[in-house]
Amino acid sequence: MPELPEIETVVRGICPHVQGRTIIRVRRSKVCRALPSAARVAGGLKGALISNVRRRGKYLLAELDNQKILMVHLGMSGQLLMEETGEPRRKHMHLALGFSKTKMELRFYDPRRFGKVALGTLAELESWTGLGALGIEPLSSSPRQIAAAIAGSSKRLKTLLLEQRAVAGLGNIYVDETLFRAGLHPLRRCNSLTKDELSSLAREIKKVLRQAIKEGGSTIGDYLHPDGQIGSFQDSHLVYGRAGQTCPRCAAQLIKESIAGRGTHFCPVCQPEL
Ligand SMILES: [Zn+2]
Repeated sequence: MPELPEIETVVRGICPHVQGRTIIRVRRSKVCRALPSAARVAGGLKGALISNVRRRGKYLLAELDNQKILMVHLGMSGQLLMEETGEPRRKHMHLALGFSKTKMELRFYDPRRFGKVALGTLAELESWTGLGALGIEPLSSSPRQIAAAIAGSSKRLKTLLLEQRAVAGLGNIYVDETLFRAGLHPLRRCNSLTKDELSSLAREIKKVLRQAIKEGGSTIGDYLHPDGQIGSFQDSHLVYGRAGQTCPRCAAQLIKESIAGRGTHFCPVCQPEL
């Protein structure tokens, strides 16, 4: 599933093509998952101008000049691509937006249909989706603020970080990578961490996310940049997808266990359960 670095890469990729442009054409599939409904989204987008595109957690938010926001969540397999109007549409396209003064179309593809789009005011989006329950943004928060958001919880690290309510944007890949780099077992309770462990975790969260954005995110499965290129941070994964391989820091074998309902990768030696 695309996480913070992948969505950030998509935002940066589409922004120069759509910002300041008016939506003159909307096409949608019959099975487009949309809130409040696909017809209302399509009707509300036509004629609107996109004033800004930004990210919150794993959501892409395109702000319109009519006080509404087009929200896109890529789910498991969603892709937002900029393609030329004449370029044939591939299968599983659910929404396409055509703009004034450009031949480039913004197309939303989603073969597995776990993704969704929504159009509403910020307050509406917050009540319809998980947007209203998101925790702090790790990239615009200080390590101290991140540590404070995690410190008091009695939940396990993996659980809390996947939930989005304390810190927004990390999913299975970046939680595993961060916990390995901070030397913390995914089952540790947040409130058992020492001050040093908390500050190391907070620093690693920022570092991993920044490096992943620099490398255009991780392409595992369907994720693509808006221009169709793949990300390269998967080559920098130290534990994710590497179960059975040797730990890059010690001689132990990396393992994968189901934790918080997700396949979790870690080193049993570098990340002791205590
Ligand atoms: Zn190790």
